[in-house]
Amino acid sequence: MRIYLDHNATSPMSAEVRERFLELLDEDLGNPSSTHASGRRARAVIDDSRAEIAAALCVPEESVLFTACGSESNNMALRGALEAPGGERGLATTVIEHSSVLEPARDLEQRGFPVSWIPVDERGALNLGSVQHVIESSGCRLLSTMAANNEVGSLAPLDEISELLGKAPSGRPLWHVDGVQALGRVPLRLSDWGVDLASFSAHKVGGPLGVGILFRKPGVELRPLALGGGQESNARAGTENAAAIAAAALAIRLACSKQESNAVRLGELSTMLWEGLQEVAARVRLLGPDLDSPRLPNTLNVLFENIDGRTLVARLDLEGVEASLGSACSSGAIEPSHVLLAMGFDAEEARAGLRLSLGACTSRADIHSAVDTMGKVLNELR
Ligand code: PLP
Repeated sequence: MRIYLDHNATSPMSAEVRERFLELLDEDLGNPSSTHASGRRARAVIDDSRAEIAAALCVPEESVLFTACGSESNNMALRGALEAPGGERGLATTVIEHSSVLEPARDLEQRGFPVSWIPVDERGALNLGSVQHVIESSGCRLLSTMAANNEVGSLAPLDEISELLGKAPSGRPLWHVDGVQALGRVPLRLSDWGVDLASFSAHKVGGPLGVGILFRKPGVELRPLALGGGQESNARAGTENAAAIAAAALAIRLACSKQESNAVRLGELSTMLWEGLQEVAARVRLLGPDLDSPRLPNTLNVLFENIDGRTLVARLDLEGVEASLGSACSSGAIEPSHVLLAMGFDAEEARAGLRLSLGACTSRADIHSAVDTMGKVLNELR
């Protein structure tokens, strides 16, 4: 039996969502832009899905735009906002964002847009003073902050950032929140916080791959990345995948409606996992926020001293435990995780942090077995 502890990479589809998806694939939905009956059926499925997601996020229906993934939503938010009028004032973002924010930000910087980078502390937490300084001094057009970090599980102080933005002396910048890892795991109050743009991805909450969401507050102007069709209120050209969108809407509704109970359950399992690991392995450190401080309830990043991360992940895989490293692999070499580097770890440590992320299908029995397997593998490696 395999134990899947990589839900931050993608979270398997639940039986209910899969059933809905397959049902709709059998319905021969047409192109939602067509005016005949098949097209109208597809359009109705998309309209209903938009309403379902809007209700789950407590936002207006017209603010929900469908994309292909969280990465596309992030690109649309950053490039779309900066390439629209006023964008020359630039961007502020944090050094621990997902690469689908970091790369467009670097690209915009190279193209001459001013970009301010906000640092984090050794736990992966944003320093509010730095956020305030950047908002006050840069006069930027867009602030982009992730709600929850995918590697170490730190949370951004969204209540406080919302307050700071309300007092911005040179006018309130637009605010984009990458909510991909936060959705269904921590409470999100987009409307109360005054968020202008937010990114989500269905496959992180048990929906199908291939559906992302960009929340865009009504009136926020974005230059589209994809031209050539009037879909999604002229914000994104391309024929929509009605069946996948409906499955995504169901997954998002379920994830949001069970957020509180899921967070409690996943928090308990994460604690069990961490306590178990401390019992079976010496010289292990938890990276990121402490277990008793606000954090993503399903995510642990652990460092086993003097253990090569890539070997550990490969050995665990052979034993049926699937986990991942935050560090990226390029041309055969392991690049240190930019998140761990930004938190002050050295390159060797930043290559070795093991990410264990739990999800809806993780059971207590899985945690017991994963701990036993990890103890055995670590003993062998040491
Ligand atoms: N943002 C964050 C914080 C993520 O963790 C990820 C994926 O891991 C993404 C964006 C990109 O989402 P997708 O895989 O749907 O492109």
